[in-house]
Amino acid sequence: MLQQSEAIQALVIGAGPAGLMAAEELAKAGVQALVVDAKPTVARKFLMAGKSGLNVTKDEELDLFAARYDSPHLRAMLEDFGPREVRIWCRALGQEVFTGSSGRVFPVSMKASPLLRAWLQRLTAQGVEIRTRWRWTGFDGADFAFDTPTGPQILSPKVTILALGGASWSRLGSDGAWVPWLREKGVQITDWKPANMGFRVDWSPHMAAHFGQPVKGVTLKVCSPGKDRTTGQPNDPTKVVDEHRGEFVISAKGLEGGGIYGIYKYLRDAYTLAVDLLPDLTTQDVADRLARMKPGESSANRLRKLGLNKTQVALVMEFARSEPFAHLKHLPIPLQGPRPLDEAISVAGGISWDALTTDLELKALPGIFAAGEMLDWEAPTGGYLLTACWATGRRAGQAAARRIG
Ligand SMILES: Cc1cc2nc3c(=O)[nH]c(=O)nc-3n(C[C@H](O)[C@H](O)[C@H](O)COP(=O)(O)OP(=O)(O)OC[C@H]3O[C@@H](n4cnc5c(N)ncnc54)[C@H](O)[C@@H]3O)c2cc1C
Repeated sequence: MLQQSEAIQALVIGAGPAGLMAAEELAKAGVQALVVDAKPTVARKFLMAGKSGLNVTKDEELDLFAARYDSPHLRAMLEDFGPREVRIWCRALGQEVFTGSSGRVFPVSMKASPLLRAWLQRLTAQGVEIRTRWRWTGFDGADFAFDTPTGPQILSPKVTILALGGASWSRLGSDGAWVPWLREKGVQITDWKPANMGFRVDWSPHMAAHFGQPVKGVTLKVCSPGKDRTTGQPNDPTKVVDEHRGEFVISAKGLEGGGIYGIYKYLRDAYTLAVDLLPDLTTQDVADRLARMKPGESSANRLRKLGLNKTQVALVMEFARSEPFAHLKHLPIPLQGPRPLDEAISVAGGISWDALTTDLELKALPGIFAAGEMLDWEAPTGGYLLTACWATGRRAGQAAARRIG
């Protein structure tokens, strides 16, 4: 067991994708690295990401890929470790990858566990030591204080890499508890906002039968916010500012899924949502088909004959019962705001870029670097999140190794 008096070259706090990548770079440079994590096992969010198909990156040309992030600061790191390098890296771990029809790249196993197992074996062989149930509890002067299975410990490494994740899915480890400790040391931190999250909808009881059902093959339309931000005047709520073909899932709490995550930034910013349930038909096509149906037929039957399934009919009846046929090409869905931060796939906010050097060293705390989701960037789902965590972990690990060297 390491004691305070033992010399530690490099300490990595947080054994998620960013921290493990930083440790790998330190080890490659011949630096002794100790990785500690609060949880009993490592990389819990990474393993969760693999539950529904681990999307490691996107098979995209770098300019397009880098443009999907809200921060230009990531560009240089993605040039070193971007979509191409992620694939090479996975293959070197014995994890063959393939590109799906949407350009998303997955391991053939679709899971995170085989990749993580191979990665941990390689890290151990490289001399990286990993300690679990070691929770960083803040600073003790310039040193790091921990709660560990054998009681409190203080470490004073030569260099440290913080890779504690963002502030969502706290049960998997990333609880954002570190924010006040760094703020106290003068590190600028931008407040958290949810990213890639679902939105709340107040459903009436009859929608319960459709919870968990997908709504596929529709067009999601982003419409102007209720009021103009600068003048406060009411906007035209039917004005479409962006639209995407996609799908979403109706849940007890609201709406979630790929189609919603693709437009979450607008919706977070008070833009409104409408759905075109028949995107392959024009308004005239719909009118012609309705005109050919028998008079007296029930609305639900006519909607089904137009091609809507039970869940889509229920959606129309939920929000346009009095005029069901008038809104098939533009059905407004009133959202009550984002689901809570802790449920978001990822977060915006975190350590501000102004607080960092280009090597991801904290300007206020020389010798301490940061990587992964704890930095202030956001991107859509689709492999962009993991790629940036690996790229920043790599940059921080290399820079920390240089600092020791
Ligand atoms: C359901 C879900 C699905 C996802 N799917 C994908 C996907 O397919 N593709 C993709 O690109 N991204 C996906 N993501 C996002 C991706 O998993 C994260 O962006 C990534 O795990 C963040 O890596 P990180 O290393 O920065 O932080 P984390 O993975 O959150 O790791 C941080 C580590 O720090 C530890 N820690 C925190 N505080 C302390 C402390 N005080 N002391 C010691 N240790 C501490 C935690 O225990 C944790 O192990 C998904 C996320 C979720 C929730």
